[in-house]
Amino acid sequence: MEAPYDIILIGGGCSAMQWLRVFLEQEEAGQQQVLVVDKDQAFPDRTWCFWSNKPHGYENIVTHSWSKIRFASPWGETMQDVSPYRYHYVSGRHFFEAASKELLSKSNVHRITDTVQAVHQVNGQTEVHGETGQYSAKYVLSSVPSTEKLRNLSENKPLVKLWQHFRGWFIKTSEAAFDPEEVMLMDFRTPQRDGAVFFYVLPFTADYALVECTVFGQQIWDQFAYEEALRTYIRTYITTKDYEIKDTEEGRIPMSQRDFSRLGFDGTQALGTAAGNVKPSTGYMFLRSLRHVQQQFGAVPAQSVPPRFAFYDALLLRIIEESPEEVSRIMHALFTRNPFQHVFRFLDEESRLTDDIRMFATLPWRPFLKQLFKKILQPNKDPL
Ligand SMILES: Cc1cc2nc3c(=O)[nH]c(=O)nc-3n(C[C@H](O)[C@H](O)[C@H](O)COP(=O)(O)OP(=O)(O)OC[C@H]3O[C@@H](n4cnc5c(N)ncnc54)[C@H](O)[C@@H]3O)c2cc1C
Repeated sequence: MEAPYDIILIGGGCSAMQWLRVFLEQEEAGQQQVLVVDKDQAFPDRTWCFWSNKPHGYENIVTHSWSKIRFASPWGETMQDVSPYRYHYVSGRHFFEAASKELLSKSNVHRITDTVQAVHQVNGQTEVHGETGQYSAKYVLSSVPSTEKLRNLSENKPLVKLWQHFRGWFIKTSEAAFDPEEVMLMDFRTPQRDGAVFFYVLPFTADYALVECTVFGQQIWDQFAYEEALRTYIRTYITTKDYEIKDTEEGRIPMSQRDFSRLGFDGTQALGTAAGNVKPSTGYMFLRSLRHVQQQFGAVPAQSVPPRFAFYDALLLRIIEESPEEVSRIMHALFTRNPFQHVFRFLDEESRLTDDIRMFATLPWRPFLKQLFKKILQPNKDPL
């Protein structure tokens, strides 16, 4: 067992680096020995997007941001300038380069590669057991679920039923094909199968963009299914000319209201996805996790989210699960009949009840009413 640390972070991904950044701004932080334990030597390979209308502290690593947002569906399309909001793109490479330089390089911060398997409480210390070492601290935070608790979950009852799963290509086209000022947030002009399927296009220059095929569904696709959909979409809506695939992004994000923090290692404080910071109906997490961390340190006022937002998420998740074919119509109504700024405020859980009522009045009511009745009749059905 190594000499005890003051703090251990299990997992050194997005939320851990957000936590460390706010922690190191605290007065006493320099005297605390901090250990980050991550199973991989390399940092997670991903990108983060989020909209924001206020400073968020990561301005210096935003690779690109847009104020024009487009939505398309078989029934039409719309584009709005969302100022004062902007839609930001942060590459994982920039995020972790900054974290290495500004956080992990501090003399009191240490990072090691080890896979954590268990955590035990011994004489007021928390012991972290990895594959190759054991570490202890008074205070342990974890963005990783407990391996044992995951193992103990019944096989018939999957942890998550519904996923946002995706595969995207960073493509370079042989001629100008994009407007780098404008993001395609959701394009539903694509066959709907195994869930709600849409495309997402982030253009960085006139000839370079991330084009992503995203599915809200229960069935994860194989690589060829995404690739076929991507090829068809690019040929139909972007360019019939040559393009080169420069890079790929893939992933899946749980769309679930399950309390993930109950699956954490006992005696640790959950962070990030493991703390339930992913918005179940959208998959966005970056700013929610940052706010969670800032609230812990009193850097922003603690705000309780009205329970009605969890209720809206529950209805939407059930519609996605049971009637995915309705999703494109709901999204079409949402984005063509409302200012996008209102939609963002609503998804950020900052809208007023009167705004919500006005917004719901613009949506097809049948699927919501159906799920509302089901929820009244089956209030205790497991959360997705
Ligand atoms: C490809 C992808 C794209 C995404 N895009 C967006 C986006 O655009 N906007 C947005 O808001 N959200 C997005 N998300 C969702 C969310 O923001 C990310 O998943 C985010 O990285 C979650 O942060 P985290 O700290 O919870 O987990 P991670 O960043 O995944 O960090 C967890 C860390 O724990 C380590 N680890 C795992 N198991 C162990 C173990 N047993 N022992 C030690 N270490 C371990 C992993 O190696 C990893 O480094 C995306 C997710 C994915 C997968």
